[in-house]
Amino acid sequence: MAFPRGHLSYSQIRTYLICPRKYEYAYIREISVPLNDKLLLGTVFHIVLEWYFRERISGALPGQNQAEDFYADSFQRFSREQPVRWDDPRDHVYKRGYALVRHFFRELAPQFNPLMVEKELNTPLEGYPVELRGVIDLVEQDLSITDFKTATARWSRNRAYHSRLQMVIYHFLFEKNFGNANSRQRFCVVYSRKGNNVRSQFLEVDVGTGDREHMFQVIEHVADGIREERFPRNEGFRCGFCEFRHDCLGPKPSQRRNHEEKAD
Ligand code: SF4
Repeated sequence: MAFPRGHLSYSQIRTYLICPRKYEYAYIREISVPLNDKLLLGTVFHIVLEWYFRERISGALPGQNQAEDFYADSFQRFSREQPVRWDDPRDHVYKRGYALVRHFFRELAPQFNPLMVEKELNTPLEGYPVELRGVIDLVEQDLSITDFKTATARWSRNRAYHSRLQMVIYHFLFEKNFGNANSRQRFCVVYSRKGNNVRSQFLEVDVGTGDREHMFQVIEHVADGIREERFPRNEGFRCGFCEFRHDCLGPKPSQRRNHEEKAD
């Protein structure tokens, strides 16, 4: 079958690895589901960072008040443009995002020297009629790459290790587009559970030749699975918070009881 969207991305690869059936629901059937509030906040945070870094690249230096206003507008607009699943009350989510943005401007923003922001890179994948695509959050003037994450808690080393494939893909894309010049890849995680004690951490990722080989093996596994329409369920603990759970496994046991009671 043809590859959906005409490209393969880290996000698609990760979804397929978590659960091929989930990939099918998201990318082949394109079942629309409400955005959860954590994803919403992460997206709005990235919108603010993109605006800030574009301003910096154009020679401006936005102040904190401007950034907070931009966040407020973006949050209101983005959360009204689509259905959102609010696991926490809307105003709590808003305040947490506000605190994350304020932390970024007070503690982190001045240390970045932006060169490119939200940079889309593509390269053909040998043996497959599809391109590998990545959108890099930030490339600095020393050509280092930073990917920003928002979270409710500090990332463990283990979590960073299991997310490194994203950086391996970015490193490969960067090299294919700009040559072997980049020196450093890192995650910048800004985290807080409720917004009252925001912290951040940098996690460096060293990409070696073994990583590159592993990346190609993973891509081959995923690309072959999509091409051959292999989308089995991978049932496990992740089903509990999968957005397609209802389509895939039906109502949760408690909901099932309610439905049965209503049917009676
Ligand atoms: S509910 Fe579980 S098996 Fe079904 S799509 Fe989601 S993760 Fe996969």
